Amino acid sequence: MKLVFLGPPGAGKGTQAELLRKNYGFDHISTGEVLRQEIKKNTKLGKKVEEYVNKGALAPDPIVTKIIKKWLNELDSKKGIVLDGFPRNLNQAESLEEDIKIDYVLYFDLDEKNIIKRLSNRLYCPNCKKFYNLKYNPPKEDKLCDNCKNELIRRNDDSPEAIKKRLKVYTENTHPLVKHYEQEEILIHIDASKNINEVFNQVIERINIEKT
Ligand code: ADP
Ligand code: AMP
Repeated sequence: MKLVFLGPPGAGKGTQAELLRKNYGFDHISTGEVLRQEIKKNTKLGKKVEEYVNKGALAPDPIVTKIIKKWLNELDSKKGIVLDGFPRNLNQAESLEEDIKIDYVLYFDLDEKNIIKRLSNRLYCPNCKKFYNLKYNPPKEDKLCDNCKNELIRRNDDSPEAIKKRLKVYTENTHPLVKHYEQEEILIHIDASKNINEVFNQVIERINIEKT
């Protein structure tokens, strides 16, 4: 099963994709995560995208599209795949359609007040790439990753200015994809305001999969 996770920043796409990976063996790619790792390793690609990512702008389409196409090409998926954070505009959606047929697009719907609450309390383990939330999903030990005990950090783009910019970019560039996929009749609406388990139950129910 091929899924796209669509929705505003902070809606819980990465959290839910990780649950599908852990519980159902889905392969998961987050374009944001790939770019963060490239930036961390200070690669040529990382240097090219750093400014866009840190200020909350979209990285150039050819760069992210190439990342996704390469991943899809090398993939040997048995259970299913989740594209998290791609596509983010119509141009990217059209590039994706050249390569694969998406079964469902899950739209994680969350209002701005909750988005800001979630993003401003988000912590991140740069080592195992796991996300926490000081309010809703805290680590067991203060600011340390449950898995690897690495110190948790805030993402550079979770600053108030970058959050504002990302919301604007989402509204202008990404949200129009909701209509696009509605017209394709593959859009599934998820109420992302519920707690993590409740959202996961909606995901499982709506895509109708059985645990193996
Ligand atoms: P996205 O990938 O859509 O940007 P994340 O999965 O990183 O969003 O979630 C954003 C923040 O909100 C994280 O700190 C995460 O722990 C927290 N979070 C995720 N889902 C929920 C939820 N259903 N209720 C409360 N907090 C959540
Ligand atoms: P995310 O981890 O999904 O919140 O993405 C973090 C940042 O990575 C975004 O704000 C963009 O700067 C960049 N990014 C992630 N996915 C894409 C994409 N599909 N197109 C362009 N930029 C992206």
